[in-house]
Amino acid sequence: MKLKELKLKNPYLSLPEACYDRAKPTPLNKPFMIHTNQAVAQMLEIDEEELGTDAMVDFVNGALKPEGSDPFAMCYAGHQFGHFVPRLGDGRAINIGTIKGWHLQLKGAGVTKYSRSGDGRAVLRSSIREYLMSEAMHGLGIETTRALALIGADHSVRREEWEKGAIVLRVSPSWIRFGTFEYFAHKKMYAELEALADYAIAESYPHLMDEKEKYFHFFTEVMGKTARLMAQWQAVGFQHGVMNTDNMSIHGLTIDYGPYAFLDEYDFNNICNHTDTQGRYSFGNQPTIGEWNLRALMTALSPLVSIERLQKSIAHYGRLYTREYLYQMGRKIGLERVGERDIDLIKHMLGTLQSLGIDYTLFFRTLSRYDGERSELLKLGLYHTPMNEWLDSYDARLRENELSVEDRHATMLQANPKYVLKNYMLQEAIDAAEQGDYSIIDDLFRIAQNPYAEHPEFERWAVATPDIHKNRKLSCSS
Ligand code: AMP
Ligand code: MG
Repeated sequence: MKLKELKLKNPYLSLPEACYDRAKPTPLNKPFMIHTNQAVAQMLEIDEEELGTDAMVDFVNGALKPEGSDPFAMCYAGHQFGHFVPRLGDGRAINIGTIKGWHLQLKGAGVTKYSRSGDGRAVLRSSIREYLMSEAMHGLGIETTRALALIGADHSVRREEWEKGAIVLRVSPSWIRFGTFEYFAHKKMYAELEALADYAIAESYPHLMDEKEKYFHFFTEVMGKTARLMAQWQAVGFQHGVMNTDNMSIHGLTIDYGPYAFLDEYDFNNICNHTDTQGRYSFGNQPTIGEWNLRALMTALSPLVSIERLQKSIAHYGRLYTREYLYQMGRKIGLERVGERDIDLIKHMLGTLQSLGIDYTLFFRTLSRYDGERSELLKLGLYHTPMNEWLDSYDARLRENELSVEDRHATMLQANPKYVLKNYMLQEAIDAAEQGDYSIIDDLFRIAQNPYAEHPEFERWAVATPDIHKNRKLSCSS
């Protein structure tokens, strides 16, 4: 379909008016296309030829209003670092409408009613990070929002210093956050709360619409999806960095990419967000915070369903999380029937990685070709004894494994990415982009889409993170 043939819908506007505020995008000066995502264009049934046109730049810049579009910003609250903030909302993201169930949003398109003291803009570096990482998560098979395109502009934005503004056109099956429910519960606006719950059920869990206890089942499904998402993040070594309840998706998606990081060397206590002095959102804390956030959602839903009922549901969180985490880790180490008896083996492995400071991604990719010959694995750490001891236990466990060596290797090569987008790689793309060279964005995009493939031309990124780039912390200011 051509851009001018698009007909957008606005289902969110069927909710009570307190849920949103109409907001007009403020286009950036002198915009230009940096990157487009053909897979997402296909999903939206937008013709590939349209991606290279000026109209596409205008579309992402909010300067071309498609038919049916009635732009608005969503209202929400949230617990930020454990403290309740009664009103947040889309301060710099403007919804322009829905195509085939995908809600399109322009992030960085100017101020809205919810901008507070912010300027409604997003800078180039954070927009590159969001654009690339959402595609990388999708490539890894982890549920996430996605993005159609990234534009830059000759438009200065004030942060600690002057930077260039950018806009990502991001898409999602749902932009509702735990904090969206908290907003109405806190204000005791129960009619709106109920309307929102019904809307979220219809949008994300339509099979529950006619259930007698639909709000209870709704919470249970969100809980299950969150437990699964946390297990996937832990298994792949992803750290979100700002797990505030306003950054938690009711649809179980990874949303709002900020100061995130993939682990370099394995460190359970890693903190990637500069502002997170207490380590609330440290790598190892994420599953616990997932549960904490679900409890905040539970409180917000309590006017619709008794808290005692919801308590029964959340009591299963730990079990669901562990089951999914074991499943994920079982694939990573090539065990066919992973179970609770393997917990010690996995803990021993992680302890070994932690004590030897071994690169998390490289370890699993190397292990994916293990056939009893240990030298490649031993090379990853300075001392051999801890790795040898773990491999002794692993060998013993493999003797009971029903998979053939070939099948084990094949499973593991599909479970252990050769490439993840580490912060130093993203920084390389950002540094080049700030000089007007966008080629590294495209390189990273290609490995993001296919992280399990070999890509011999990008071998330099399939290594342990260089020491000077390890465990970089990023700030929220983006
Ligand atoms: P975040 O930390 O990006 O999840 O943002 C938290 C809240 O601050 C959300 O309500 C955002 O919309 C808002 N916000 C972040 N940056 C800006 C900005 N530059 N202008 C306006 N609002 C912003
Ligand atoms: Mg956010």
